[in-house]
Order: sequence, then C-alpha cells, then structure tokens
Amino acid sequence: MAQTTGRFGDFAKIGYGEVFGGVEGMDAYSYTCRDCEGMEKCPASVVAETKDEVWKLIELHAQVAHEEEPADWDKETKDYLDTLIRAVSV
Ligand SMILES: [Zn+2]
Repeated sequence: MAQTTGRFGDFAKIGYGEVFGGVEGMDAYSYTCRDCEGMEKCPASVVAETKDEVWKLIELHAQVAHEEEPADWDKETKDYLDTLIRAVSV
C-alpha cells in the first residue's frame, strides 16, 4: 500500500474535495488474476464492494476461465488467494 499512501498524501496537500469534486472514492476490494502464481497470462480482474462478493467473483472466474473447482480449494489455497485481494478506492 506504499504507493497509495503517497498518492493520498498528495491529495491531502491540495485538498481531497478539489480532486474528486467533493465526492470521495468508494472503498472496495479488488483481485487481479495475474497476481496469482501461474496466472500471469490472465487479464481478468474483479472489483466489488465487499470481500465476500470478490470471493464469489473469483470462484466464478476460476470455474469459467481456468476450469477450477473452488469447492475443492484447501485452506492454503484460500489463504493465498486472500492475500491477493486488496482494499482499493474507486
Ligand atoms: Zn484468471
């Protein structure tokens, strides 16, 4: 999150409202498939309001695009994927 901190540092200096016209960015979560080991060639990414929703989208994407069976993912796999979900502002 180092870059994000820097970015918001700059916004703070010139005024948050000026940048967004008074509308704040919405908190959201994102997952980018190519961040995942072995998925470097996959262009898909998902953004949603809650982590729960991002998980659903990841599972659907894994089924459709990678013919994976999310029901078979073990705890290690889920823990790993969880580290790839980032809090973002959109
Ligand atoms: Zn993918």
